[in-house]
Amino acid sequence: MNSPFQNALEQLEKATKLQQFSTSFLAQMQSPQREIKVSIPVKMDDGTTQVFEGYRVQYCNARGPYKGGIRYHQHTDIEEVKALAFWMALKTAVANIPMGGGKGGITVDPRILSATELEKLSRGWVRAFAPVLGPHQDVPAPDVNTTPQIMSWMVDEYEQLSGDKTKATFTGKPLNNGGSEGRNLATGMGGFYVFDTLKITSKLPEKVTVVIQGMGNVGGNAGRIFSANGHTVIAISDSKGGIYNKAGLDIQAVEQYKKDYGTLQGFPNAQRITNQELLELETDVLIPAALENQITEKNAQAIRAKLVLELANGPTTPEADEILFKKGIYVVPDILANSGGVIVSTFEWEQNLKNEHWSEDEVNKKLHTILKSEANNIWEKAKDLKTDLRRAAFIVALERLEKAMNS
Ligand code: NAD
Repeated sequence: MNSPFQNALEQLEKATKLQQFSTSFLAQMQSPQREIKVSIPVKMDDGTTQVFEGYRVQYCNARGPYKGGIRYHQHTDIEEVKALAFWMALKTAVANIPMGGGKGGITVDPRILSATELEKLSRGWVRAFAPVLGPHQDVPAPDVNTTPQIMSWMVDEYEQLSGDKTKATFTGKPLNNGGSEGRNLATGMGGFYVFDTLKITSKLPEKVTVVIQGMGNVGGNAGRIFSANGHTVIAISDSKGGIYNKAGLDIQAVEQYKKDYGTLQGFPNAQRITNQELLELETDVLIPAALENQITEKNAQAIRAKLVLELANGPTTPEADEILFKKGIYVVPDILANSGGVIVSTFEWEQNLKNEHWSEDEVNKKLHTILKSEANNIWEKAKDLKTDLRRAAFIVALERLEKAMNS
C-alpha cells in the first residue's frame, strides 16, 4: 500500500489534470518548505533514559503561519507527518483562514507512559522545536492522542523558553489556560455543519443512519452531535473493534461504558463487529474518524454508505476514491469535512492575540458561516467540473494558494 504522502501527491496530480496551474507553483506544492527530525531524551520513572523521535514538517506558509496538530502514535513517522502537513496546507486554504500548513509528531505509544513521562516528553518536543515555533511562525495543536492537557504543558514550556505570554503558539488548550469555547467539539461540529449543508443536494433523507469508525475526540463528539440532532448512530468502534445495533446506539451510554470498562466489548444490546465489518455496513452516512488508509481498493467495492464524511485525515486511498465515485457514493473530503478543528483553533489564536474570550454560541456561528459557504462553493465547483468533491476541494485550495504565492 502507498504511504499517505504518496497518496497525497497522487490526489494532487489527479486534481491538477482538471485545471492548469503553473509548473513552478506545482513544483513547490510537491515538497515541504522544511522538515525537521529530532531526538528527545526522556528520563523514565525507572531511572533509565529513553530516546524518542520527534518531527515537525512546515509545508507551506504562503497564506499565514504554519498550523497543524501533533500526533503521538507508535506508527507515526516523517512520511505520515509530511502527508498530514500537506493536507493541512490545503485545508486552511479551503477554509480560507489566514494560516498555512504544518504537522508534528512523536513515534510513541503514549498509553505505555506514566503521566510524568508523558509530560517530560511533551516538554522535550517543545524544547527541540521552540526556535521554529511562535504565534506568527508556527502554531501547533492536538491530533491523535494529544490532549488539551498536553497542549497546556507545551504552552507553559514555550512561555518559559521564549517569554511569550500570549499563549497563541499552541491551540486546543484547556479553557482555563487560554483555550477557546467550542474547540473540543469543533471537528465534529464542523463535520456536522458540512453534512447538514450537503444533505439535501446529495439527496439524503431528513434523518439519517450513521456509522462511525473511531471514538476519540473526533468520532465520539461527532456521534453525540449527530444523535443530538435526531440522527441515528447504528455503529461505532475503537482500535479493537466495534458495536452495532440496527435500531440505534445511545452514544452517551457507550462512552460511559468505555470509560468504566476500557472497552466496548460487552456493551448491552449490541452486536460485536470488526472494524472491517463496520466499514461495510449499510448506512446513509459513514464517518471514518480514526487513521489513514481505511477505505482502499480492497474494500471500496463493498462500501454501502450513501455518503462518506471524512473526519479522519486520509482515510480513503486514491484507488478507492475512483471506485466510490463510480458507485455514486459521495466522499466529502477530509480537507473540507474535518476543517472545523483548525478553524476554531484559528479563532483561539485570534482570541489569544487580542486578549478576548468569545462565547460558544459566537464561535459556532462563525464556524457555521465559513463551512456552509465553503461546502456550497466546493459542491458548485464539483458540478461545474463534473468531478468528485475531493478534486473540487483541491482546485479551490490550489487557486487560493497559487494566488498567495504570486502576491
Ligand atoms: P483520538 O486519539 O482522540 O482518537 C482516535 C480514535 O481512533 C480512538 O478511539 C482509537 O481507539 C481509534 N482508532 C485508532 N486506530 C483505529 C483503527 N485501526 N480502527 C478503528 N479505530 C481506531 O484522535 P482524534 O483527535 O479523534 O483524531 C482522529 C482523526 O481525526 C485523525 O485522523 C486526526 O488526524 C483527525 N483530525 C483530528 C482533529 C482534532 O481536532 N483532534 C482535527 C482534524 C482531523
